[in-house]
Amino acid sequence: MSDTSSLSNLGAIDAAHHLHPFSDMKKLNAAGTRIIQRAEGVHIFDSNGKKYLDAFAGLWCVNIGYGRKEMADAVSRQMNELPYYNSFFGTTTPPTTLLAQKIASHAGGKLNRVFFTNSGSEASDTWLRMARVYWKALGKPEKTHVIARKNAYHGSTVAGASLGGMKWMHEQGNLPIDGISHIKQPYWYAEGGDLSPAEFGLKVARELEEKIDELGEDRVAAFVAEPIQGAGGVIIPPETYWPEIARICRERNILLVSDEVICGFGRLGSWFGYQHFGVEPDLAPIAKGLSSGYLPIGGVLVSDRVADVMLDEVGDFNHGFTYSGHPVCAAAALENIRIIEDEGLVERVRDDIGPYFAKGWKSLEDHEVVGEAQSVGLMGGLQLAADKSTRRRYAKPDDIGTMVRNHCLDNGLVMRATGDRMLASPAFTISRSEVDEVVEKLRKALDHLRDTVRE
Ligand SMILES: *Cc1c(COP(=O)(O)O)cnc(C)c1O
Repeated sequence: MSDTSSLSNLGAIDAAHHLHPFSDMKKLNAAGTRIIQRAEGVHIFDSNGKKYLDAFAGLWCVNIGYGRKEMADAVSRQMNELPYYNSFFGTTTPPTTLLAQKIASHAGGKLNRVFFTNSGSEASDTWLRMARVYWKALGKPEKTHVIARKNAYHGSTVAGASLGGMKWMHEQGNLPIDGISHIKQPYWYAEGGDLSPAEFGLKVARELEEKIDELGEDRVAAFVAEPIQGAGGVIIPPETYWPEIARICRERNILLVSDEVICGFGRLGSWFGYQHFGVEPDLAPIAKGLSSGYLPIGGVLVSDRVADVMLDEVGDFNHGFTYSGHPVCAAAALENIRIIEDEGLVERVRDDIGPYFAKGWKSLEDHEVVGEAQSVGLMGGLQLAADKSTRRRYAKPDDIGTMVRNHCLDNGLVMRATGDRMLASPAFTISRSEVDEVVEKLRKALDHLRDTVRE
């Protein structure tokens, strides 16, 4: 590293030149940015040498853990052999094609094809265009509308942020674009009222039916949802929810899109989130866990239903990216999937470390400030509550969540807070004692909340 970027003044350089995503730069520059310098296993180390247990796997993505030499080797081999070629003009590269086959082998059912992107956001743009092209080719050019959910996250491009249901994102940049509506999320704790979770799951699923009727079935192209809402706060739907959604999409003849960017590639103890919930989508955007974040790559899984029409009726699909199926990123994804297969990591999440994590996570429910603590596989959401007997929430949820998260950080644990929900999403390789550490440190942060805030 050159003198001008020695670590001691990286903070100042960062403040002067680097605009961070999803950040208030004035506040961040005043507080100072944390510089993460290296990582190993489930641990990251900052530039002061401080060690953290990363219970969030980067950003829901480093599922095989940090520091995998096999990944560096696979990437290096591919870089030396062929650093880049495109798949635009009748060409492909070996890792790109083999990756599509590998993904399809785990997708099951009729999901046999993959369209590659560089990110989850681009995958959102891709399936949205594909769904509209599909219906147009079937003689239904009016079938363009998409129904999504409030508080969903589908990325940050214009289409991604519009499909997402984050109001604070819509407020910036004139979003959402036309042709997208948002229905209720299956968030029982906050919105379920006196209904049981099962009743509430059915009720919110049926909002989809009502919305389709309101818009007219002939105008609706698709419904999109994350199997478990991630960035929205790990909102785990009641069991009644997904089967009802699948029924409605089938009966009303609209495409079902499962956003697998977080849930895909093992996080729920199944290769894909839709498998955990027993439904089969027509389209499924993927990213994050596809390469465990070692290199950026995403895509859309496409079912035969859609692919057949694309092949037989559409002809040219006028869409793609310079780096669609980038060979080095594809090599990284292939090696990542090989590691997941060879080490049985999906099975480990389902049968071993997932259940162990669930037990520890659930044990936090006895805490005074915890409303509920749920998880599936290695994806956990914990609801903070001012009064657990009445499900009353704190008046300033963002401040409360941030406080708990910062307490964890100070104690060397990386967690995420969305409002008053604490989120965990550790690497599939996390050990039992590391899970114990997550639970212990989170409990201390909850004690701190109880002792400092009285409402
Ligand atoms: C992260 C995420 C995206 C967007 O992916 P990017 O790679 O950040 O563009 C889309 N959908 C879900 C469910 C996500 O969690």
